[in-house]
Amino acid sequence: MTSSEQLFARAKELIPGGVNSPVRAFRSVGGAPFFVRRAEGAHLITADDRTLIDFVCTWGPAIHGHNHPRIRAAIAAALDNGTSFGTPNPYEVEMAELIVRFVPSIQKVRMCNSGTEATMSAIRLARGFTKRDKIIKFAGCYHGHSDSLLIKAGSGALTHGHPDSAGIPASFARETIVLPYNDTAALEAAFAANPDQIAGVIIEPYCGNVGFIMPDPSYLAFLRAITTRHGALLIFDEVMTGFRLHQAGVQGLLADQAAAAAVHGAPASLPVVPDITCLGKIIGGGLPVGAFGGRADVMDQLAPLGPVYQAGTLSGNPLAMAAGIAALRLLEEEDPYPRLDALGRQLRDAVLAAAVAKGLPVQVPQCGSMFSIFFTATPVRDYTTALTGDATLFRRFFHTCLDQGVYLAPSPYEAGFISTAHAGADLDRACTVMAGAIRAL
Ligand SMILES: *Cc1c(COP(=O)(O)O)cnc(C)c1O
Repeated sequence: MTSSEQLFARAKELIPGGVNSPVRAFRSVGGAPFFVRRAEGAHLITADDRTLIDFVCTWGPAIHGHNHPRIRAAIAAALDNGTSFGTPNPYEVEMAELIVRFVPSIQKVRMCNSGTEATMSAIRLARGFTKRDKIIKFAGCYHGHSDSLLIKAGSGALTHGHPDSAGIPASFARETIVLPYNDTAALEAAFAANPDQIAGVIIEPYCGNVGFIMPDPSYLAFLRAITTRHGALLIFDEVMTGFRLHQAGVQGLLADQAAAAAVHGAPASLPVVPDITCLGKIIGGGLPVGAFGGRADVMDQLAPLGPVYQAGTLSGNPLAMAAGIAALRLLEEEDPYPRLDALGRQLRDAVLAAAVAKGLPVQVPQCGSMFSIFFTATPVRDYTTALTGDATLFRRFFHTCLDQGVYLAPSPYEAGFISTAHAGADLDRACTVMAGAIRAL
């Protein structure tokens, strides 16, 4: 069998950097990436026959773990009928019905092939709908790699030391206003400085691409109010958080919190309804998928009904739809969110306890099955504070965990993910390994 080392040597001859997506190259943690020949449940089996407990979960999609029998069976059944038709197919309708039912802010939805396509198309739609050009994004939020959005984009771009990519015309970048996350005054100032020019604001409502960061309690409600006031669309990029934290993503969490507060007479907590939501990752069940949807009057601006063009040869692909439908139905049947949150808390508490014992400052933001570990004394609430994390400590921590069979994302600026396939024993083992790795720092 070919080892990871041999495969990587061949890959580097043929593929730039040996990888088809940059963060996979391990540049920010050093060393060479491993190749995976098989994945099952919570585990990756490498080309070198190591079994790793996986907290990357294919960067988010694998909420049911790898190679789930129900998803595999759904793909196999669809495969019997063919791989692509280039016409409308019944799976697309079923997928749209599921998304519209689970995410109340989405009245109509269009499928595409990646999260990048979803956000790129959502931005175009916002510009077409409002007839304005400028957009606001937030430093550290990643929305895929289209030109307008690859500016201060966190994770991959940050890890590789060039937060702005080469090849993006300065004239494009001028249409993108980048603001600090969690900063209401900066939003007020940007809207005041660009009257009637801002088409939309795009945000990861819980940010997962510069590590995991949660917003201040009323920040998203503020964002909703200010965009409405200025006639700009609010775009939630829930490619990562959609179906990960709640069936309806962060907007579902906020709606539940608001409902609970109303029942208990607690201080008002406001639901936040975006105009457009971008989805991807989990809704593809491990196959390539993206989607964007929202208000019907906005979505009806898309061709063939309206003037905003958007298309895709393989959009609504029957295999991808079948996999995604199976993944969403499983979530509905199992309602795994309380258990995933318990696992997330167990992991967070183990890391915090080890750090306290060691006298090492760490921040472990966690919600449900998303978490990250920042080696810093500074509470992390935006891009600047995320960068206070000690990259050298992270690198040592990462490699000690990997040596012991626990695979975390190979960058200090990525979120970790837990799946429903992570058994208690996997979590116990991972907690032991992570605590040991902190002791060894
Ligand atoms: C992963 C991600 C994207 C891009 O999705 P791709 O399928 O990789 O193109 C966009 N937005 C967010 C929030 C993501 O996490």
